[in-house]
Amino acid sequence: MNESKVKIRYFLCLFIVINTLPLQAKANRGSESGANSIRIFRAGAAVSNITPPLDEPIVGGWNSPPATHVHDELYAKCLVLDDGKIRLVFVVCDNLGIAREVYDTAKRVIHEKTGIPPENMMTSATHTHSSISARGANRLIQNKELSDYQQFLVTRIADGVRRAVNNLEPARIGWGSGQEPTQVFNRRYFMKPGTRVPNPFGGKDKVIMNPGRGNPNILKAAGPTDPEIAFLSIQSVEGRPIALLANYSLHYVGPRDQGAISADYFGVFADRIRQLLGADRIAPPFVGIISNGTSGDINNINWLKKQQKRFASYEKMRQVADLVAKAVYKAHQKVEFHDWVQLNVMQKELTLAVRKPTEEQIAYAHRMLEKPDDAKPYHRHEKVYARRTLQMHESPEEVSVILQTFRIGDLGICAIPFEVFVEIGLEIKTKSPFAQTFTISHANGSYGYLPTVAQHELGGYETWLGTNMVEVKAAPKIVRMLISMFERLR
Ligand SMILES: [Zn+2]
Repeated sequence: MNESKVKIRYFLCLFIVINTLPLQAKANRGSESGANSIRIFRAGAAVSNITPPLDEPIVGGWNSPPATHVHDELYAKCLVLDDGKIRLVFVVCDNLGIAREVYDTAKRVIHEKTGIPPENMMTSATHTHSSISARGANRLIQNKELSDYQQFLVTRIADGVRRAVNNLEPARIGWGSGQEPTQVFNRRYFMKPGTRVPNPFGGKDKVIMNPGRGNPNILKAAGPTDPEIAFLSIQSVEGRPIALLANYSLHYVGPRDQGAISADYFGVFADRIRQLLGADRIAPPFVGIISNGTSGDINNINWLKKQQKRFASYEKMRQVADLVAKAVYKAHQKVEFHDWVQLNVMQKELTLAVRKPTEEQIAYAHRMLEKPDDAKPYHRHEKVYARRTLQMHESPEEVSVILQTFRIGDLGICAIPFEVFVEIGLEIKTKSPFAQTFTISHANGSYGYLPTVAQHELGGYETWLGTNMVEVKAAPKIVRMLISMFERLR
């Protein structure tokens, strides 16, 4: 071959390469492998049924009746987001609160099957008060042996996430927030001077939880509320709804039937938002999710007013879910969807001191347990808390908990393994460097209430030793760590 022929061949090859480049890029964009140079955002969602068997005790109240019926099915709702570099997993389960070892085991299985690092997975519970226990006997001790239901949860959560990964497709994402101030009330109240406010440790509190409807001795609520319903919405590139993950700071709603399993308003919300978004019966099925915000001191009852009407079982939760879904739907009209956003995650462990009883509290607990059952109690739950006092005394000295922060564009999400007081969620929203931020509580473990230091001083149910399990200064430590993690993600 002479020199000029070689030159012609060279230029011909160059011409072909240059002209086919955009074509190859296009092919990559649509391929499952994901291109490095072209940013493709993908998402997938799926649900797993986690309805427990009948006959086990339903937890969340003072008595635990055995489950005799299923009013509505329970689910682990799974969402996977992928920006081409990082994959994030969000799982929200219909349960009161799930032990860390259950989540850790599920994360290990998911990691083995999908390669997603466990730190990229947020796993949480809604805090429905109508399911069976997924916690161990002592929440401060990790159980090596999981119960049958805990083992079932591991498999179902892992399967749900794997199915969400199978459903990954090019997607668009947006977020926003609505307001529903009429359904949240701070449930802790200051009472008029002279009102008897005993606690189960033989002392007196400054505030009382759920003081009774229209109680004339109520002075005022002891804290704020957070009316915001934050949400993130994901749809296919053609606009087919894939999933919506909302977050509202409301404990749970009720009323419900004794012995009936139910996802409470969290389940009704999912149905309602699916209906409003026109996402019924599509494939893959749309997944509506609402996570619990910071609702440790919040509920759905206005104690300042005498009850106007008696609600039938499940009537109130339908009403609340309808209002919350409508507020989200209204805000959803203004959501700006992005074809691609940057994802990031940071997880850290924080060691907290376990709260211990004083010598006097231990002695008082022994006295209460020796008291005859027919003797007049100083407080109606004194024996329950006597047992909890002794359990706290025998518990480990410290506990290590998972804290997580996520970045989705300029939206920040953090996850805390407690029943977090609303003041803490509001503080995080104010201090976060992100344009919008929300907190998912009951996440990656379940260690009781997290009051602020100021609320600890007022006493009340949520601060009692045994309901609260970690050091009084846990909240400021957690907030400080989360904000510094957010700043590093930014
Ligand atoms: Zn609760």
